[in-house]
Amino acid sequence: MATVGLNGINKVYPNGYHAVHDLTLNIQEGEFMVLVGPSGCGKTTVLRMVAGLEDISDGELRIGERVVNDVEPKDRDIAMVFQNYALYPHMTVAENIGFALKLRKMPKAEIRKKVEEAAEILGLTEWLDRKPKQLSGGQRQRVAMGRAIVREPSVFLMDEPLSNLDAKLRVKMRAEVRRIQQRLGVATIYVTHDQIEAMTMGDRVAVLKDGRLQQCDTPQNLYDFPVNQFVGAFIGSPAMNLYKGQLMEGGRNLKIGSQTLELSDNVHIAHPSLASYANKEVTVGIRPEGLKAVSSDVPRSRALDVQVSLVEALGSELMVHFGLDATVVRLEDVQDDEEEILTQGGEGVARIEPSVSVKTGDRLRLEVDLEHLHFFDPTTGVGIY
Ligand code: ATP
Repeated sequence: MATVGLNGINKVYPNGYHAVHDLTLNIQEGEFMVLVGPSGCGKTTVLRMVAGLEDISDGELRIGERVVNDVEPKDRDIAMVFQNYALYPHMTVAENIGFALKLRKMPKAEIRKKVEEAAEILGLTEWLDRKPKQLSGGQRQRVAMGRAIVREPSVFLMDEPLSNLDAKLRVKMRAEVRRIQQRLGVATIYVTHDQIEAMTMGDRVAVLKDGRLQQCDTPQNLYDFPVNQFVGAFIGSPAMNLYKGQLMEGGRNLKIGSQTLELSDNVHIAHPSLASYANKEVTVGIRPEGLKAVSSDVPRSRALDVQVSLVEALGSELMVHFGLDATVVRLEDVQDDEEEILTQGGEGVARIEPSVSVKTGDRLRLEVDLEHLHFFDPTTGVGIY
């Protein structure tokens, strides 16, 4: 078991492209750390530097107590699982899992024992004599994990290992990978572009954008206290609704388009820095789950009146897309390709109970969960707390 320490790590590729900027990140023993961010943000580059497959331009990398910047990949005591985990088609599952040990010239009986132990953890015992083509996608993925496990590394590195699986299997395998990692207690760095995967798997999640760390925290803290509007919009699905707002009457009232919400003392207690934005513009974040369909009795000071543009019935809830006469703050870079349909259309989206009767074209009053509003500086995008 080991920790992994990245201290001021930079990567400048030979063509001059600065892919990773001053990254400092410490992964604890047994911790499952997820690196997440949009395509091209530098996740794979970070992982490859930890693996030793890519030179580190500047900064210090430690595995355990040892500085490993100049240590060969094979001597770093790590094992990697990739997206394209090519298994050897002519070998059985047992031979595939034990291959690295055979290369190390480990005695046959010992290899057999280690392979059987790994197969037991992975639920592959009855498949050991099969060839890869006789396995399902999920089983093949587990064989790839098996090859990493038998090496008994002090660190696992995983680069989108589930992205070749279909959606249902991917969800199942997330839990499996976590179960196996917890059982082995090995520090793991896991790369994904999928924020749901990041949130469901990570002990902590490091959000990267343009090669820079935005925030590293527990999934719950990222969701509740995003440091900036990029993290606010990237974490959560569908993405947070972002609007231009105006704090009026010394900060008492929040104007969004032509509508005005009244902010209680609690809002100001939770966001003391909001005081300095009194009578100024702020960016307001409202999560789709922070909006509730209500009757017209609920006063307008706690609700937004919207025009429904699309209703998606998901069974357990309705995704209600709506138009609102407010200026939407749109961020490039924030993508959510898995749930693309849910983020299209209209100026906002609300997650509503399925019992509500609503259709395209309706006017709807949405009560705003004022205590869970998010505020960001309109110029820098930094969270206001
Ligand atoms: P994805 O999710 O699409 O795999 P990523 O976050 O893993 O993206 P990286 O593959 O780490 O991103 O790439 C980060 C940036 O560095 C990208 O802009 C990429 O084009 C650039 N890059 C990657 N490899 C090289 C290279 N060998 N030479 C120059 N630039 C590179």
